[in-house]
Parts: sequence; C-alpha cells; structure tokens
Amino acid sequence: MKDKLIRFMEGRYGMDQLFCAMSGVFLLLVFLNLTFQSWILFIAELLVLGETLFRMLSKNLDRRRRENELFMSKVEKFKALSARNKMIKEQSETFYFKKCPGCKKTLRLPRVEGKHNTVCPNCGKTITVNIKKG
Ligand SMILES: [Zn+2]
Repeated sequence: MKDKLIRFMEGRYGMDQLFCAMSGVFLLLVFLNLTFQSWILFIAELLVLGETLFRMLSKNLDRRRRENELFMSKVEKFKALSARNKMIKEQSETFYFKKCPGCKKTLRLPRVEGKHNTVCPNCGKTITVNIKKG
C-alpha cells in the first residue's frame, strides 16, 4: 500500500506551505459550515479542497513552485508589515509617527507636545505636525 502511494506520487508536486494554508482554509470552512450549514460554504469547501488536491497531484512542478513562491512573498510582506506596526505601537509613547505627504515615507519624530515644522530627510518637503499629549 505504501509502495503504491509512493509510486503514485512520483513526479507529482506534493505538499508545500501553500498546501498547508489551503488545508487550513478548508478546515476553517468545514468548521464554519458546522455552525451555519450553508450551501455556499459547502461549495467553497469543495472548490478549496479541489484546488488543494489538484495542486498536490499536479505534475506541472514549475508552475506550482511559482505559485508557492508568490504566496510566500505575500506572507513575508505581511510579516514585515506586522513587525513594523508592532514597533510603532511599542515606540508610540516616545515617538510620533507621521507619513510624509510628499514621498509617503513614515517619519519618526520625538514626541514633543506642540506645533513643529520638520523637513523630510527623504524628499526635503517641509511638514507641519501638531503633536498632542498622549
Ligand atoms: Zn518625504
């Protein structure tokens, strides 16, 4: 039985991070549908399951690899954004964060109460900030 499975899977893509994520989405849909019992959720379950199995059994390894790379690059972007937001939250007592209207870069300014002018080090635009207590 195990040999048959190994032979069947030869040349096929198998599992990757995207497979795990899609399986997670599938299980979440199944769990949600236990509560809501909706045919729309049921169809979504079938679509996700079908796509997950299709990817796993696919012999187009290059394409599956590219899909996974795209997925992982989005995961990395999300992680970087979360880390940045966490850092801003942690430093918000001592620093004031303001997005430059010129170049959209986030400036980190000392949190000193009152109205101040500052120059963006990236694009040179003068920005007026009004920092309130807390
Ligand atoms: Zn700027």
